[in-house]
Amino acid sequence: MERTTTIAGVRVRVAEARSAGARIGLVPTMGALHAGHLSLVERCRDLADLVVVSIFVNPTQFGPGEDLDAYPRDLEGDEAALRALGPAAPDVVFAPAVDEVYPRDPVTTVSVRGLDQVLCGVSRPTHFDGVTTVVTKLLNIVQPDVAVFGRKDFQQLTILRRMVADLDVPVELVGGPIVREPDGVAMSSRNRYLEGVDRTAARALSRALRAAVAAARAARAAGEVPSSGVLRDAATVRLRAEPGARIDYVEVLDPDTLAPPPDGADRWLVAVAAFVGPARLIDNVVVGERADEDALLAATDDR
Ligand code: AMP
Repeated sequence: MERTTTIAGVRVRVAEARSAGARIGLVPTMGALHAGHLSLVERCRDLADLVVVSIFVNPTQFGPGEDLDAYPRDLEGDEAALRALGPAAPDVVFAPAVDEVYPRDPVTTVSVRGLDQVLCGVSRPTHFDGVTTVVTKLLNIVQPDVAVFGRKDFQQLTILRRMVADLDVPVELVGGPIVREPDGVAMSSRNRYLEGVDRTAARALSRALRAAVAAARAARAAGEVPSSGVLRDAATVRLRAEPGARIDYVEVLDPDTLAPPPDGADRWLVAVAAFVGPARLIDNVVVGERADEDALLAATDDR
């Protein structure tokens, strides 16, 4: 595993591999790596011959007053975690400085309209433009055949899929399942902000999703089709029951379009966001996708 901090450096390494016939994979991250990130690297290793992990805390996706300065940075620790993957470790860690990625004020940005106006886009109005622009840059720098993203950031993945389709970017995007702590809390670099009662309160998000899955299963058992309203209410009641969590949103949407689910839908994205202590946390499940439901239920503490 080698580290490069320059665009030229990563391009040389990728060009060498490509000319030898290698399939190139990219896993973009902001570092402070946890098992969720590492699962994406392992997935990428299965799909590509040369695996590049980028570690870059992208300032343009943080809004004013957000946690850009506080965001955890630990390149040495991240590299140790990647190396510990052994045969699944990436070949290249691309860890550029801000000036390398943004040598001048960019006047060109990439924007995916509409999909960025719901869910996290409401409380973070500039966030997704920052994401789509930096991911476009990373895709242009590395030019991977495949790029792996987590379903933890479901809206981000949906937006990136649409961006790649609309702009004919020659890359396959793969979504990896959410990795959870043993008590059900979705792993997140921002969990490092949580201590004591806040960490306990963070369980409310996955519990709310579990309540939605339970409501869907109860409806099905009664021979009914679950409705968006029932899923939303079940999740909302459960999240409201936690005084340590302040709801940002509880939404039930079509997982492909992020629009209200049509009549006759058989898959529903249930997405939640809440402020817990100093952190804003998100989580989701796709009701109607059995594997996603089961993974959520398997990891929770509600016994
Ligand atoms: P970040 O470093 O937060 O920008 O995340 C980098 C990538 O890791 C994104 O594609 C995230 O969706 C993904 N990711 C973050 N947390 C998890 C998790 N708990 N499970 C799976 N993927 C995750």
